[in-house]
Amino acid sequence: MSLEKFSKSDVEIICPCCKESIYIELDVDLEEVGSDEREMGTETQYEFLTSVECYLCENIIEIKGEVWEYPENVLNDFEIIEVSSKCNKQ
Ligand SMILES: [Zn+2]
Repeated sequence: MSLEKFSKSDVEIICPCCKESIYIELDVDLEEVGSDEREMGTETQYEFLTSVECYLCENIIEIKGEVWEYPENVLNDFEIIEVSSKCNKQ
């Protein structure tokens, strides 16, 4: 495993509580979930799970995402796959 951390600023998500677009900063630990041999070497897939507070409605939002490394040591793509919240602040 060569990537352990992933950081990205100005990531846009939709808050599931107030339904507004917000921009967050990701700084997460990655967990390797799979790999595949391809033409230019190994492609490795990682997952992360983090939470942020919505600066508009103050609810805690859980964010799950995926990061792909391909070829080795090159961050190829990332995607937010799940955004959820209990929305217990109104
Ligand atoms: Zn919100």
